[in-house]
Amino acid sequence: MTRLVVVGNGMAGARLVSEVRARDKHVTVTVFGAETWQPYNRVLLSNVVAGTMTPDQVRLLDPAWYADHSVTALPGVEVTSIDRETQAVITAGGRREPYDVLVLATGSQAVVPRVPGAAGAVAFRTLDDCRTILEAAATARRAVVVGGGLLGIEAARGLAGRGLPVTLLHLAGHLMNRQLDAEAGLVLGETLAGLGVEIRTGVVVEEILDDGVRLAGGETVEADLVVFACGVRPVTGLARDAGLEVVRGIVVDDEMRTDDPSIFAIGECAEHDGTVYGLVAPAWEQAAVVADIVTGTDKTSRYRGSRMVTRLKARSVELAAMGETHLTEDDAEVVRFSHRAAGTYRKLVIRDGRLVGAILLGATAAVGNLTQLFDRGGPLPGDRAGLLFPGLSGSAVAESPVRMPDAAKVCQCNNVTKGQIRACWESGARDVEAVAAATRATTGCGGCRDAVEGIVGWLCEQEGVSA
Ligand SMILES: Cc1cc2nc3c(=O)[nH]c(=O)nc-3n(C[C@H](O)[C@H](O)[C@H](O)COP(=O)(O)OP(=O)(O)OC[C@H]3O[C@@H](n4cnc5c(N)ncnc54)[C@H](O)[C@@H]3O)c2cc1C
Repeated sequence: MTRLVVVGNGMAGARLVSEVRARDKHVTVTVFGAETWQPYNRVLLSNVVAGTMTPDQVRLLDPAWYADHSVTALPGVEVTSIDRETQAVITAGGRREPYDVLVLATGSQAVVPRVPGAAGAVAFRTLDDCRTILEAAATARRAVVVGGGLLGIEAARGLAGRGLPVTLLHLAGHLMNRQLDAEAGLVLGETLAGLGVEIRTGVVVEEILDDGVRLAGGETVEADLVVFACGVRPVTGLARDAGLEVVRGIVVDDEMRTDDPSIFAIGECAEHDGTVYGLVAPAWEQAAVVADIVTGTDKTSRYRGSRMVTRLKARSVELAAMGETHLTEDDAEVVRFSHRAAGTYRKLVIRDGRLVGAILLGATAAVGNLTQLFDRGGPLPGDRAGLLFPGLSGSAVAESPVRMPDAAKVCQCNNVTKGQIRACWESGARDVEAVAAATRATTGCGGCRDAVEGIVGWLCEQEGVSA
């Protein structure tokens, strides 16, 4: 019987274990998790900070699931080394667990800048971090969030939504500078300002003080709660110490296998084809590939890389960005509509007649269609305005996911198409919960819930019409 050991019970590790059990009852599975919590949906942590979800509501698997599926889960147990010669992992407490197949799913850790006083600040990566933030927020008078990327914006919006005055400090000239161009960053900043988040871009944090943050130039921004959201770094120490190849992440091939054939790596700790992904959809796709291979269900299964769409999950801020949004007219065809007063910005980046990037801010109705066009890389219809404004009459593109082709991907996190939702409906699912149970659509970031609801509602209506 194959002995599978998984190190890391986060979003990738937990998904791998459930994918393995869905395929095979005989593999012996042991999963170690350094966090004391049962695995949870990290993507939804900003909802915990915002107070719209509790830790229980973001749980992925509970103890009963492990008992029912004969999986040994060891929360709060850190693996400290790998003995590749005898094929065993060793924990901090000295436990030795032999493996035939080892999967590293150790994720990332938050980067905390090396500035004086930073040791006392809190990062934003784990449920424990959320607990610390919320405890501090209960008595704080002002908060500062350092880092104007996706996580920093979600944290700042969550804290502002609790009524706490928040200043968001960002090193670059505009927010989410990796995903957005300067104009979009500006519109996003104005939207957040309207929601109670003061935005300061182009600032350098030099020191964390007891009563605030000192910036280069000497100015102090007052705060009694400082949250760092300055990016993440893959957790690779275990692999590196064991002599596995590590560049930025643990290097894997298309099977997600490291340079030791008995050891795989998935999720944010893995580097595939030069890329370390920081989103959950690739992690879940990779988990499915490893489950196929380890259980022998499909030994030809391979991971070929992902095209990613970033969606912000901050209440009252709609934002989706994908691909090469920074290209200019020099290198691509760029179609842009900016309406700052309304807080909307839309942009298409097209090369050789194909969509290679897009930004939708303040209005994301077109995201389903654009994602599909981006994913498949097919030729675009000539009606560019119709792509940006799906409601326009005579538009070349369907105005809602209801009329999307069956191949359109509705749930990015779980890779679920409209066709799969339709098939699920045809086998009896009549609401979002039933579709989620069968396909897992909506169970990642939850951003597709309205689209799934729309499709299910429309199918139900059609049934009523034809009955
Ligand atoms: C606030 C927030 C919002 C996000 N929003 C989105 C989003 O909207 N969309 C999206 O796609 N992604 C989002 N992400 C990113 C997403 O959460 C990650 O891509 C995903 O969690 C990666 O899964 P993972 O299992 O690789 O890593 P993790 O979920 O970090 O899990 C790794 C686990 O391994 C454990 N571990 C590490 N070393 C050891 C060891 N030696 N022994 C035992 N256990 C160990 C860690 O404690 C951790 O629990 C967000 C992340 C955060 C923090």
